[in-house]
Amino acid sequence: MSNRTIGFTCTHLGSRLRAFSTSSRLSQEQLVILGSGWAGYNIARQIDKKLYDVTVVSPNSYFSFTPFLASAAVGTLEYRCATEPVRGIKHVHFAQGWADSIGNPTPLQGPSKLQTPEEEGEEGNKEDSVQRLYEIEYDKLIIAVGCYSADFGIPGVAKYAHFLKDIRDSRSIRNRILERLEQAVLPNTTTQQRRDLLSFRVVGGGPTGIEFAAELNDFVEEDVYRLYPELKNLVSITVYDVAPGILMSFDDSLRNYAEKHFRREGVKIKPNSRITAVGEDWLELDGKDRVPHGLLVWSTGLASNPLMSKLAGVKRDEKNKSIRVDQHLRVINTSDQPMSDVFAVGDNAMPEEGRLPATAQVASQMAKNLSKKLNAMGRGTDLNKTEAFTWSNRGSMVSVGQHRAMVDRSQDSIQGPKSRLAGISAWIVWRSYYMTLAMGWRNKILIPVHWALTWFFGRDVTRF
Ligand SMILES: Cc1cc2nc3c(=O)[nH]c(=O)nc-3n(C[C@H](O)[C@H](O)[C@H](O)COP(=O)(O)OP(=O)(O)OC[C@H]3O[C@@H](n4cnc5c(N)ncnc54)[C@H](O)[C@@H]3O)c2cc1C
Repeated sequence: MSNRTIGFTCTHLGSRLRAFSTSSRLSQEQLVILGSGWAGYNIARQIDKKLYDVTVVSPNSYFSFTPFLASAAVGTLEYRCATEPVRGIKHVHFAQGWADSIGNPTPLQGPSKLQTPEEEGEEGNKEDSVQRLYEIEYDKLIIAVGCYSADFGIPGVAKYAHFLKDIRDSRSIRNRILERLEQAVLPNTTTQQRRDLLSFRVVGGGPTGIEFAAELNDFVEEDVYRLYPELKNLVSITVYDVAPGILMSFDDSLRNYAEKHFRREGVKIKPNSRITAVGEDWLELDGKDRVPHGLLVWSTGLASNPLMSKLAGVKRDEKNKSIRVDQHLRVINTSDQPMSDVFAVGDNAMPEEGRLPATAQVASQMAKNLSKKLNAMGRGTDLNKTEAFTWSNRGSMVSVGQHRAMVDRSQDSIQGPKSRLAGISAWIVWRSYYMTLAMGWRNKILIPVHWALTWFFGRDVTRF
């Protein structure tokens, strides 16, 4: 068994820094999983720990349940409903930090763009924090570090816009909204200033941007106008997209339904709009007009994880720079050969045969296939006898607010009108599906409880 290494930075409070144990049974292989997202977290749960000594490396000690980030950003659900602790998985070591290099660790130039708690001013102080380069040995490595949000190099986006990718983003968006409401309600704020502060703008008309706009509109209609009567009718929500419409991956009839629904709700849709610059309280459209914003949520697509550019000898997808993998999810090297013990799954992986969307659905199916494969291999089955990865498209869903959603399975095996559903019944399907997907029992209980609390008492607007 030949061990190789990955280098990773651990940024943490000195007092809490701990090395992880390597007291594994000799027969166990060291399995290192980079990332605690849909792919990494699922593998850590599904892998047989009697067969592997498992270590998860991630800057986050939790898994973010991304479909609920929009709900958490406005308080329909509390933050903890959208996270699961990695340390909650039995017999898995966890090392908090960023994987920085693989195979040939080099001193770090600073972690990737993800912010450390210290950078965000969340906990601890800088003097207490340490950054150390560690090396971890592995026999088998799984790269599941996902992607970052893309800003397309547009000036000001990274500094002034809010991305929605992680539970910390939900928290900063929620604080920003509540801050704007409190500023707007001050007695010396003019009506025009109120309108500007309450101009909530979303860039990106895909499912993530649309679900956020819908959740925000529900919050405004159901709670803001009740709790801040002075602000009645002063909030505006606008969704911009460079495409000719929203939800372009959905069937036309469903897209029309969503557009009509938003029009009725007063959410403005601005297709064919190109944002060219962003400032602290304005955004520029098509290099000409500047409009004010009190909150700007940016959800326009994905950029490759900086770790990808540090992987030498690995074949990458030309378009999105993700790692090319074979049918067994093994990383393909630049000589077009699969690497025997290095796998990639989730948003940072792209199978050689055909492009797959960057979704939790794909990431979890890859995770399931790879876990089964590794478990079989751990019991002595040859890799080539294990099931090759194939993606089964289960369709798409999006919630559009006011107890309405849309389900589109027209790319699935179902055809015709039966493949599409919109309205309250689709919303029940949306909620039931995601509730059952919640991984831990704690959240299976918490989620319906919080939905019920929001229904009866409204969303909490406490800011801390
Ligand atoms: C708001 C939102 C809603 C969504 N809703 C849906 C939906 O309803 N249905 C659906 O199918 N898809 C949805 N998606 C897409 C889905 O969440 C992603 O496709 C999925 O998260 C990809 O999983 P992943 O494991 O590849 O990456 P991620 O889930 O992004 O996880 C990556 C992990 O790697 C860690 N990491 C990053 N860099 C490093 C490093 N250098 N070293 C170690 N760890 C690192 C990160 O901290 C994270 O833990 C949504 C996405 C968002 C943002």
